Amino acid sequence: MSEIREDFVERVRQLVREVFPMVLRAVAAASREASAKADGSLVTETDCAVESHFVKALERHFPGVPVLGEEMSASARLSEHADAGAYYANFMSSPHQIIIDPIDGTKNFVEGKREFCIAAALTARVGEGIWPIAGVVAVPNTGMIYYTEGGFVREESVVGENSVIIERREVAEPLMSVSSKDRWWLATNGYSLAHPWISSGSSVHDFLGTCVGRLRGSVTGTQRLWDLMAPLALANNLGCVLRDLATGDCVTRITPEHLSPNLERRAWGLERKMVLLPAHATLAELVRRSDAEQG
Ligand SMILES: [Mg+2]
Repeated sequence: MSEIREDFVERVRQLVREVFPMVLRAVAAASREASAKADGSLVTETDCAVESHFVKALERHFPGVPVLGEEMSASARLSEHADAGAYYANFMSSPHQIIIDPIDGTKNFVEGKREFCIAAALTARVGEGIWPIAGVVAVPNTGMIYYTEGGFVREESVVGENSVIIERREVAEPLMSVSSKDRWWLATNGYSLAHPWISSGSSVHDFLGTCVGRLRGSVTGTQRLWDLMAPLALANNLGCVLRDLATGDCVTRITPEHLSPNLERRAWGLERKMVLLPAHATLAELVRRSDAEQG
């Protein structure tokens, strides 16, 4: 298993280097035209170009491994599939899968903000579900790539010589990330947040923040599979775990039951609220039941 893992990471690091100049040129350009997808999120030419470059190369390099990309999934005619569970189970039935978000934080990218990422994960079948075994997250605006290497995470400069194994280093400021939709959901379902929240507009960027210790934790619930898998691979190697908000249990596989049955509007969207946090932390250190607090 380690062979395909290493091969995947090496290949993706190379692909990131190949698309970086194109992405940075688009960042520098005055206009980055975007159009809206069916779910209201944005897509640009750069999203599609990066994804197509990754998908073509990875399909050629890993024949037989199914590849899921955000933009190809948006254009696929998913509504023709009668049963979402069977559709997801079919993808998850292979021994390995590749999951790509060509640009996470497209709105930030369009608006010239710094927080957007390229994310790619290799997952493996675990029981009825899948779990990431390798991941690469690239941050074009800082020129850094984060990737799994053995049981570690390496931070590497795309252009420079810097390359170091990193550990999670918690910063003093207690912030957590929660998307606006999840904040609304938590508030209307009797939960309160233990720390001030932020939301950068890129879930991958925020999850990465929790992995490296810039944030105390991240709530996830409205994201799609491609937002979660690459950072989760890093999290596995940086002492972070994913907990189910309702039960507090560690999540160790994502199954078809975790994903939205609504293929037309929310394909590959998570259905359960989960929290990414350090293994030593308790859920209550981040999210509390407001009613429980009141006794
Ligand atoms: Mg995207």
